[in-house]
Amino acid sequence: MESSDKSNHQLRGGICYPNGARRPVRTPSVIVIGAGMAGIAAARALHEASFQVTVLESRDRIGGRVHTDYSFGFPVDLGASWLHGVSKENPLAPLISRLGLPLYRTSGDNSVLYDHDLESYALFDMDGHQVPQELVTKVGETFECILEETNKVRQEHSEDMSISSAFSIVFERRPELRLEGLAHKVLQWYVCRMEGWFASDADTISLKSWDQAELLPGGHGLMVRGYLPVINTLAKGIDIRLSHRVTNIVRRYTGVKVTVEDGTTFAADAVIVAVPLGVLKAKNIKFEPRLPEWKEAAIDELGVGIENKIILHFDKVFWPNVEFLGVVADTSYHCSYFLNLHKATGHSVLVYMPAGQLARDIEKMSDEAAVEFAFMQLKKILPEACAPIQYLVSRWGTDVNTLGSYSYDAVGMSHDLYERLRVPVDNIFFAGEATSMSYPGSIHGAFSTGQMAAEDCRMRVLERYGELNLLQPVMGEEAGLCVPLLITRL
Ligand SMILES: Cc1cc2nc3c(=O)[nH]c(=O)nc-3n(C[C@H](O)[C@H](O)[C@H](O)COP(=O)(O)OP(=O)(O)OC[C@H]3O[C@@H](n4cnc5c(N)ncnc54)[C@H](O)[C@@H]3O)c2cc1C
Repeated sequence: MESSDKSNHQLRGGICYPNGARRPVRTPSVIVIGAGMAGIAAARALHEASFQVTVLESRDRIGGRVHTDYSFGFPVDLGASWLHGVSKENPLAPLISRLGLPLYRTSGDNSVLYDHDLESYALFDMDGHQVPQELVTKVGETFECILEETNKVRQEHSEDMSISSAFSIVFERRPELRLEGLAHKVLQWYVCRMEGWFASDADTISLKSWDQAELLPGGHGLMVRGYLPVINTLAKGIDIRLSHRVTNIVRRYTGVKVTVEDGTTFAADAVIVAVPLGVLKAKNIKFEPRLPEWKEAAIDELGVGIENKIILHFDKVFWPNVEFLGVVADTSYHCSYFLNLHKATGHSVLVYMPAGQLARDIEKMSDEAAVEFAFMQLKKILPEACAPIQYLVSRWGTDVNTLGSYSYDAVGMSHDLYERLRVPVDNIFFAGEATSMSYPGSIHGAFSTGQMAAEDCRMRVLERYGELNLLQPVMGEEAGLCVPLLITRL
């Protein structure tokens, strides 16, 4: 598929036959751009459907926003780490079960804060005093009530507004929900957790659309051995070219030509673009001819937020045996939280997770300064804390391969944008978390869009060449297998 003389053999090959000659067996070809979950899932499906598949990946590793690091001597995830929806309904469940990968469940179905149950927190004020658990629970219930009230606000207003504006309206109507003192700070902490889920601040999240994504049943489970084994399994046997940054995509009726940074050109019948929304927004890949206006508008309008991880490895555990440690404060910006990985993995690791503007501000710091910042938050609540022996810092917002952590519904923008981003343009197909209407911002969303793009691409290419009966339908080999998930709560 690669063309060293920059000509396009594939576009010409296999279409014209001399009179009477037997039609040669033609292998349909596809280029997949991006070796994250979506791209790898698409490549796997088309590889199994007998397509000639080439994956072009800009980084020197596969996985994208799945980034399991082993430098501590055990796996830790700098990107995705939870399976949201620990149940057979999750499209990734069959594969995870088949690999025997253990999950540590951090919440059941009814968590107000999506991935953790109320009883699993230990919250502290800035002076290191622990917030009584009854107050944490009570404020959690108030938060749920406020969210229900915002639903009424939504029904009354045709114009969209931010979640934080809706909160203000609720407080005017129901002053008893406006909390004071420590309770107010705990409420801000809940808002901070919500901002973490969407990777963006409450004043940018759409009231109309914030809850339109589907939450699968089964609660949320941490991948104890990291997510990389899942990616590696899907990637087995696929032709993946690392350090191949795509800069240009030319589409013609007969096929596509894709050019990478060093000028090398690849040609195929179709292309699946599975790069992050942030990369599309930055227009780092040029499309010829230009993408239609509706597609460009979807790329511009859909929100992309930032959440980062500062992973701290200590020589011993000195913190309480809870899943989440939190610092409460007057504003959600000043609140913070640490995930205690010791509960799930047995390793003395805390993960500090800033989101939205705070994450953006911290990305401007050096790694050392960012670690110091996180450690100072910890010191506020646990003055006896000893310094970490190792650390890792993610920079998903400024990393040129991502330019954002994951998509979210921005104020005034329709949830349909996810679908518009997915819809193919001729022989260019789109996949990735930001093309999933049902499960945006998630790893299982990325996986399903990869499979969907693969099936659309297969149909399109085979229809065009009249070879519909030739190849197998796109289907994961694990389809139909039923192995239970390995779930623990230590
Ligand atoms: C901090 C963080 C925590 C998260 N936590 C969770 C979680 O717990 N659970 C969950 O379900 N989801 C989580 N997510 C979201 C999840 O990681 C993503 O939704 C998913 O991994 C996205 O997969 P993707 O294939 O769409 O994109 P990516 O994984 O980003 O893959 C895109 C690939 O394209 C490559 N690329 C970029 N530009 C080019 C180019 N020009 N040419 C070639 N290749 C290019 C990139 O290097 C990358 O490998 C988290 C994300 C982050 C950042």
